[in-house]
Amino acid sequence: MKKSASWAPAPNLKVLAVERNETDWTVSVNGQDPATCPLCGIRSISRHSSYRRTLHDLPAQGTPVTVRARLTRWRCRNDQCERRIFGERLPRLAAPFARRTARLAGIVRLFGHGAGGRPAERLMARLGMPVGHTTTLRDVKRSARTHADPALVRVAGIDDWAWRKGMTYGTVIVDLERRRVVDLLPDRSAASTAKWLKGRPEVEVVSRDRAGLYAEGAREGAPQARQLGRFEAPIREAPVPAVKDETGPELSVAQGPGGRSDTAEHRHFARRARRAAHQALFDQIRAHYDAGKTVTAIARELGLGRRRVDRWVRLIVLPERNSMAPKASTPAYHEAFLSRRWAEGTTAVRRLFGDIRQRGYTGSYSHLARFLAPWRNIARPLDGMSGRPPSPSNYETPVPSPTLDPMTGRQISPLTAAALCVKPRGQMTPRQILIVDALKAASAEFATMRQLAIRFRGLLRGGPLEKLDVWLRDAHLSGIYAMRRFVRTLRQDIGAVRNAVLEPWSNGQTEGQINRLKTLKRAMYGRAGIELLRARMIPLHESDLHRE
Ligand SMILES: [Zn+2]
Repeated sequence: MKKSASWAPAPNLKVLAVERNETDWTVSVNGQDPATCPLCGIRSISRHSSYRRTLHDLPAQGTPVTVRARLTRWRCRNDQCERRIFGERLPRLAAPFARRTARLAGIVRLFGHGAGGRPAERLMARLGMPVGHTTTLRDVKRSARTHADPALVRVAGIDDWAWRKGMTYGTVIVDLERRRVVDLLPDRSAASTAKWLKGRPEVEVVSRDRAGLYAEGAREGAPQARQLGRFEAPIREAPVPAVKDETGPELSVAQGPGGRSDTAEHRHFARRARRAAHQALFDQIRAHYDAGKTVTAIARELGLGRRRVDRWVRLIVLPERNSMAPKASTPAYHEAFLSRRWAEGTTAVRRLFGDIRQRGYTGSYSHLARFLAPWRNIARPLDGMSGRPPSPSNYETPVPSPTLDPMTGRQISPLTAAALCVKPRGQMTPRQILIVDALKAASAEFATMRQLAIRFRGLLRGGPLEKLDVWLRDAHLSGIYAMRRFVRTLRQDIGAVRNAVLEPWSNGQTEGQINRLKTLKRAMYGRAGIELLRARMIPLHESDLHRE
């Protein structure tokens, strides 16, 4: 039988021996001769000396492989050449001075980029490629540093991301055409954005949020580019007025002497409505259950928790409200008292906690804090002037009646309402549709806002500019304060809004990338520096896997 002996770590290397040691395979090789001077390209046959080079290679049968090469130093005999002596290179195996073969280095970078330092270290150790995490990350960083992405960025999406929420911010730049992150800047400023854009004269479109900062940076750094404003969620900037908390004591009580009794009456009706809603839901669950559906199926269909359905199917009649009434251990039991204190200006949880403890509250501090949190949100004025005490003047929109979730009979939170206000019907669950319908029925304002918001979404998908003008007029005439403010904001940046309507690019994917960034940041336990974060956000350079 004839054996092929032609295997070698790279062509042109002569394998002298392959040995299995305790920890690895060692392949001893000799270099080739003669060699070519790397500077002048002329071949040399005069040996100067020899040296050894050790390279870690890809594993064989799960065991690390080490290549030990005996290589020659040559004299360059070309008089014109500045190089006198040169070492033999291994262009098909490893980069000069590298301690790993190019193919191993590529895998190390791939693991480091995808999994991060320590997970990569663990995985690679198991696979027969023992490389420390610091080395791995250093390689990932170096690769990101040295391999500038050669592709031209025509459409750039720019957004900020939080290093530490509310403290320091960075900037992420996404190539919206190729859907990849092209850079991460360590700060959020017009200057750094402008500087980045100046280095990229090919940029034709800049999609940015409406922070004046990036608009300014783009104007300065890329005057040639069209700017697209991102105005995707008018509602987020304009909290839905229709769903203030029914308890909102600062609303009714502060309005005058009649306020308190209004609140009480109001609460009475709210309770009755809640009871009716509970009953309806209960009947629905019973009907489904009697029809032979499983608890899981009912829960899924009605969008309820399984445990609740499970509890209710055991009952024949809905228990009286009393048995569900708040107990002294819950903050809700002390709601009337709390709302009075709140209206008087006592909003510190610590104080209120002490107060209701004296009145028999046995629950926890955190429970109370959670209970009060929505009050605080309401108290925060709608126009973003935080820190001002709640006063009726902050609410220029009329306060409509509270809206209850038709399924659970609970108050619909402003956050839910705001999110649903902009959500297209086609993307909603049956339960969300019910909630939206309830909100619309309860508040004409919500209905109008929703209609405007959905129309605005449609506009951003592209359409004739005239539609934008019609929309701006309608929104302005809607009489809703938040909408009028939004229209005003849009008008201040109308060029960018028009471009956003005309151009197909949306910054939505930038937000997706920011989510990825958050995940990465969390996985690094916040210890990572900007360089590593950047290296891992930018796609690994493809040729890294093949190049030396
Ligand atoms: Zn030479």
